[in-house]
Amino acid sequence: MKPYDQLPAAEKLQWLELVLDHVQDAILLSDAAGSVLYVNRAWEDMTGFAFEESVGRSAADLIRGDHHPDTFWVSVGERIQAGEVWQGRLVSRRRDGEPFAQWATLIPIVDVDRSVSRIISVRRDVSVSERRELALAVSESRYALAARGSNDGLWDWDLRTGALYLSPRWLAQLDEDAVAIEGSPEAWFDRVHNDDLSDLRLAIEAHRAGTTEHLEVEYRARCLDGSWRWMLVRGAAVRDEDGEATRIAGSQTDISERKAHEVRLLHNALHDALTGLPNRELFNDRLGHAVRRLRRRQDASFAVLFVDLDRFKDVNDSIGHSAGDILLQEVTSRLRGVVRPSDTVARLGGDEFTVLVEDIDQAGAMHLAERIREAIAQPFSVQSFELFVTASIGVAMGDADGSAEELLRNADRAMYHAKKRGRAQSVVYDVSTSGKLQRRLVLQQELRVALPRGEFEAWFQPIVSLLDGRVLGFEALARWGANPAVASPAEFIPLAEELGLIVPLGEAILEQACVLLRRWQDSEGPPPELGVTVNLSPRQFVDAQLVDRVAAILERTGADPQYLKVEITESTAMTRHTNPVEVCQGLRALGVSIAIDDFGTGYSSLSQLHRLPVQTLKIDQSFVHRLGVDHEARAIVRTILSLGQSLGLQVVAEGVETQEQRHALLELGCLRGQGWLFGRAEPADVALARAVAPADESFGLPSVI
Ligand code: C2E
Ligand code: MG
Ligand code: MG
Repeated sequence: MKPYDQLPAAEKLQWLELVLDHVQDAILLSDAAGSVLYVNRAWEDMTGFAFEESVGRSAADLIRGDHHPDTFWVSVGERIQAGEVWQGRLVSRRRDGEPFAQWATLIPIVDVDRSVSRIISVRRDVSVSERRELALAVSESRYALAARGSNDGLWDWDLRTGALYLSPRWLAQLDEDAVAIEGSPEAWFDRVHNDDLSDLRLAIEAHRAGTTEHLEVEYRARCLDGSWRWMLVRGAAVRDEDGEATRIAGSQTDISERKAHEVRLLHNALHDALTGLPNRELFNDRLGHAVRRLRRRQDASFAVLFVDLDRFKDVNDSIGHSAGDILLQEVTSRLRGVVRPSDTVARLGGDEFTVLVEDIDQAGAMHLAERIREAIAQPFSVQSFELFVTASIGVAMGDADGSAEELLRNADRAMYHAKKRGRAQSVVYDVSTSGKLQRRLVLQQELRVALPRGEFEAWFQPIVSLLDGRVLGFEALARWGANPAVASPAEFIPLAEELGLIVPLGEAILEQACVLLRRWQDSEGPPPELGVTVNLSPRQFVDAQLVDRVAAILERTGADPQYLKVEITESTAMTRHTNPVEVCQGLRALGVSIAIDDFGTGYSSLSQLHRLPVQTLKIDQSFVHRLGVDHEARAIVRTILSLGQSLGLQVVAEGVETQEQRHALLELGCLRGQGWLFGRAEPADVALARAVAPADESFGLPSVI
């Protein structure tokens, strides 16, 4: 085979044509005037114009007005005519009108006379690659923009090589030393908080395995100075045809501030704003933990202390709420000063605090309660006031069988007991405390129902002459239903008093007493010398309408006021809630007389007693019961009798149970009494029958004279 340059011209041309038809660039040959002489196959493909259509036409026509201004072509034309090769990007239209970009090389063929006789135009379609590049450029710039605009760090982990790329922002999120992390996932994990590490690894693994659609996990990263920053990592895996993850890439956001905010919110939800102590919710939660721990471990123990300030309301009422708030804060710091740091001190609300102490026995818990009481008993100085505050504390020992709520309730009950016993003391909860309180609750509910149903009845205990047993009068005593076993007045009267039900209850008894009185008046029997006495509770006594109510009942029943007597205790007689002298005078004005009940047990001063328009003193039964055995009781009874005598009062002894007591009283000069020796309280009909019966039939008492 001959070398190419030695081939005959025709053969050379054949070769050339073959080559031209197989090159990928489009080639057009025109004469100097621009008339097309030849186009290759790539040209046909590129423009859509066939060889036959193209030859003979103007090249400018074929490429259909390149999208360039005329000035452009003038300058290109000049350079070509000058014999220079021109290269550049051109945009022209295909046969179907679609514009497309080409990289063009225009080569003039210069003759010997230096004139340009032919022009070869070589064009390469760059529209596809341009579009691709453009798209890439756009997306890249968008991505770069996004990365720069956000505070997020970027990361890209090649799972095949293990290389970890971290963006400058990612590194800056930690500290200047974080550059050492780049390239090594292990170095990254090294900076992850121990408590978060397994979560992070699990999340990455889960996403890598395809179980999760996205990777999203929060973790704490350690900074150079040892502080922790919360990070949110997001990412997505790139997978190969088999679904195998080859890369995971994503962002990292510093969420420390959001976390701090969340922590603050959580803190606020679980703490008391005034004292900063855990609130009820958090306390219950910790208590729950302690109970569960006790169930797991036999040797564990804990105690709950329920601390309630005594008469805190008085502080609020007298010197104001802001002083009350300061006091609560001071109490908080004293409580904290007494307990160990591991103990939980909480404020449940108002002046109620609780303490949860672990690893403590009952003696230890009571000792702690005492120390708390001592700490609180030290005077507080609040807004230039010196306040003396005491606390009542209930203690409940942890119990694996009880729930957290029960324990708290038990401590509360024990505290309530401490209050009942006179405040400023600690009481440990035991089951009997619970039994009593349980009964109280049941009674409370029953009481509310029983009253409107008229279940309360006045029964009457005779007041007699100690000499011959003659019935001189009666004391009306409230009974709940026909069965006295339901509840004794000693139990339900204080309850009714607390619930505010004593006023209607007392009124019902008063009315029944007046009805009995009226029947007695109307009977043929002897007149009610000592009349019928009715007990007045403190609340009834301070009721502004008391006198009106009594007057209305007297009016309604037609009872003679001179035979009606009300009994009040010494403390009622000295109440500060009303003017006792005025109330007594109001009753006296109606004709009603007044007796002091349980005399000797209170602290009434003689001078005060002297001011009251009182007609009768009732010696408390505790002295009567001790008459035979103790000299002091005898001395007290004697004093009361002489006091009565000097003030011109009748004296009635209560609780006379035996003949010995009766004789002793008579010896001391006490002529009137009541007690089981003569009779218990009985229903109205029974009592009335006894009152109107002839004296000698009444008790069959041996006469002392
Ligand atoms: P009180 O007014 O001192 O009534 C006398 C109490 O002593 C009565 O108890 C009576 O049953 C009891 N008693 C009478 N004789 C003897 C005796 O020989 N030995 C002993 N051990 N006890 C005797 P009761 O009926 O249980 O009432 C207790 C208290 O409840 C009363 O004490 C009174 O303070 C109050 N109470 C009863 N009824 C009423 C009422 O209608 N209104 C008000 N406000 N209080 C009432
Ligand atoms: Mg009484
Ligand atoms: Mg009494």
